[in-house]
Amino acid sequence: MTRELKTATVFTGIAELVTNDAVLDGADHCEHLGRLSDAAVVVQDGRIAWVGPASQAPPADELQDVGGRAVIPGFVDSHSHLVFAGDRSQEFAARMTGARYDGGGIATSVDATRAASDDQLRALVAARVAEMRAQGTTTVEIKSGYGLSVQDEARSLRIAAEFTSETTFLGAHVVPPEFADRRSEYVDLVVGEMLSACAPYARWIDVFCEPHSAHAFTEEEARVVLSAGQDAGLGLRVHGNQLGHGPGVRLAVELGAASVDHCTFLTADDVEHLAAASDTTVATLLPGVEFSTRSPYPDARRLLDAGASIALASDCNPGTCYSSSIPFVLALAVREMRLTPAEALLAATVGSAKSLRRNDIGVIRVGNRADLTVLDAPSYLHLFYRAGVPIACALSPGGRHGR
Ligand SMILES: [Zn+2]
Repeated sequence: MTRELKTATVFTGIAELVTNDAVLDGADHCEHLGRLSDAAVVVQDGRIAWVGPASQAPPADELQDVGGRAVIPGFVDSHSHLVFAGDRSQEFAARMTGARYDGGGIATSVDATRAASDDQLRALVAARVAEMRAQGTTTVEIKSGYGLSVQDEARSLRIAAEFTSETTFLGAHVVPPEFADRRSEYVDLVVGEMLSACAPYARWIDVFCEPHSAHAFTEEEARVVLSAGQDAGLGLRVHGNQLGHGPGVRLAVELGAASVDHCTFLTADDVEHLAAASDTTVATLLPGVEFSTRSPYPDARRLLDAGASIALASDCNPGTCYSSSIPFVLALAVREMRLTPAEALLAATVGSAKSLRRNDIGVIRVGNRADLTVLDAPSYLHLFYRAGVPIACALSPGGRHGR
C-alpha cells in the first residue's frame, strides 16, 4: 500500500496570531491569548504542523499569504438548533411589541419540520452551516428537537450527523401538542423507542428543564431523560435557568453534565455549584437569545469572578435567536455583559471546546485540528471594535474544511 503524500501549506503574512496556547514559546501571554506578531502556521493533513515567527517558518509545498491580517482559532459554536423548516418572524415581531416568550411557538417549527422532505431539511442545514463558516465558525454542535416523534427526531439527527460529529438528541425539547394531556407518556417515549432510534446518530442528550414553561420539563422529568441518555452512552447537556430561577444548574452539576446552557437566572447557590464544578460543567451563555427576546443578560462577570468555566454560543434557532453569528454574540458579551474582548474570545473558542469535552479545537497548537479563522483586520480587537462588520471568515487550508 502506498501512502498518499499530503501537501503542507504555510500561512504567512499573519500580523497577529491569537493561539490561546498558554505555553507557546515567545508569545505574549497577557490575558491568556498566547499572541504572536508576524507569525506563520504550517498546516498538513488537516492538522497544525508548526506555529511560530514567520522568519523561522519551515519550507512547505504551498504558501498562502494572508496579507497582514489577524488569525484566531475558529469559533466553536457549542449550542445550535439548525435542523428546522419554516419561519417565525411574525412571532419575533409580536415579541418586539410586547408579547412574552414561553416556549409555546416551538410547535410551529415542529409542524413545518415534520412536513419538510429529507432533501429540504438537508439543504436548510447546509445553508446554515455555510453561513456560520462564512462568519468564522469551524465547529458546530447541532441539536434535534423540532421532530418530536421517533421518526422525525431520528432523521433530524441523521441529517445533522452529515455535518458534524457534535450531534445532540433533544427529544425532550417541549411536550408536543398531541401529548399535552399525556406528559408522562411522552417522557416514556423519549427515553424508550425515541432514544433507541436516535442514540446511533447522537453524541449528546439534552433536555429543556424549565418549570416556568408549561411546555418544557420539570426537574424529575429531566432527571429521567438525562439518566436514560447516560445509560445509552450519551454525554449530558442541559437547557437550564433560562426563564427564571430553577433546578437546571443544580441538576446538571449533580449529574456531571458537560454543559448547562442559558444560565440567565442564577442564585448565589447556583454560582457556587458552577464554580465548584468548573472542571466538569461549563456554563454556556447564549446572549443572542436575551437580545432577541428582550430579556436581561446572564451575569457572566459574576460567574467568571467566582471561578466558573463559561462558554459563549449562538443558540441559532427559529424562535428565540435566528442568528448564526458568533461575532454578534461576542459583541453582546463585551458591550452588554462586561466581559473583556479577550475573555469573550476565549469563551467562544477554548470555553466552548471544553463544553464539548474537546481539546483538539479552540487552541492553535501543533497536533490540533487546523481550524483557523482569518479577520480582515490587523488585530482580534477589531472583532469588537468593528461590531456588525463581516470581518471574520473560516480558512480552508489544503482544501480541508474544519468540520
Ligand atoms: Zn437551545
